[in-house]
Amino acid sequence: MPTTRKIDYIKKMKEGLQMLGAIEAGGTKFVCAIATEDGTIIEKVQIPTEIPDTTIPKVLEFFQDQRISALGIGSFGPLDVHPDSETYGFITSTPKPGWINFPFVKTMKEKLQVPVAFDTDVNAAVWGEFHAGAGKNLNSCLYITVGTGIGAGAVAERKLIHGWSHPEMGHISLRRHSDDHFPGVCPYHRDCLEGLAAGPAIEKRWGQKGDALPVDHPAWEMEAHYLAQALMQYVLILSPEKIIMGGGVMKQRHLFPLIRSKVEQLAGNFLTLPAMDTFIVPPALKDDSGAMGAILMAQQINSGN
Ligand code: ADP
Ligand code: ZN
Repeated sequence: MPTTRKIDYIKKMKEGLQMLGAIEAGGTKFVCAIATEDGTIIEKVQIPTEIPDTTIPKVLEFFQDQRISALGIGSFGPLDVHPDSETYGFITSTPKPGWINFPFVKTMKEKLQVPVAFDTDVNAAVWGEFHAGAGKNLNSCLYITVGTGIGAGAVAERKLIHGWSHPEMGHISLRRHSDDHFPGVCPYHRDCLEGLAAGPAIEKRWGQKGDALPVDHPAWEMEAHYLAQALMQYVLILSPEKIIMGGGVMKQRHLFPLIRSKVEQLAGNFLTLPAMDTFIVPPALKDDSGAMGAILMAQQINSGN
């Protein structure tokens, strides 16, 4: 931590302010953050997602002496988010080696002795953007991440959408691109959206990671073909006021105009949508959407809401 921020932080500790902790657990990395009670992030680290026995001790070490009063977790899933379930707080059927049935909440509660709020990484991200980012002052918005996996979280009528469990919008079926003969990489559905368009699918289809592919590579038109279809389905079902697109693959900013124009084509004469450059946008909180959402979740559990 830079010296000035450290001094600030020590000062706040001395003033007796409570700290809040956040974890955004992704398929490639864990982002762990500490924030003051008002939600200002003062420290943040990244820890690679390996097996739990390797990753979790590093996460615990980061939080151990920080005197946090609550922790918010936004995690890759699927997750058990039923508060009355015996396996509440577990990562359930993930394809990530070692993480199946990992008791995330129980482990953190036992080791850190603080209340823990738990939701998907994308629910945390949409919550962060809704309160403090691109979704501020709206009643609804949707956040989609295109990274190691694809997932989306949505706020409707100012509430996070939960149902029987949490949505899994990354695993929808789509129309194939006519040039695409790649079988897909989702271990559950093969050629669902995630299986065709997440970072690992791009890498396997083209033999190179997305960040190595030039802007004029056909990969990007194909990527936009799939993502635009997904967005159109979300629009048809949920009608969000704004769609925020994050995750590693969306660092390719040239994807935004491609996706916007394909969404417009799909909407055709049927739907009148908001102006595209304010409707489909990158996260205003940049890489902090998930961590900010997890901090807000910690804040809520701390105040008993
Ligand atoms: P996580 O899934 O852990 O949250 P990311 O959102 O960074 O992490 O997603 C990682 C995936 O995104 C990898 O498949 C990686 O190849 C891809 N990726 C990361 N950065 C870029 C980039 N600049 N351009 C294209 N793809 C990227
Ligand atoms: Zn799938």
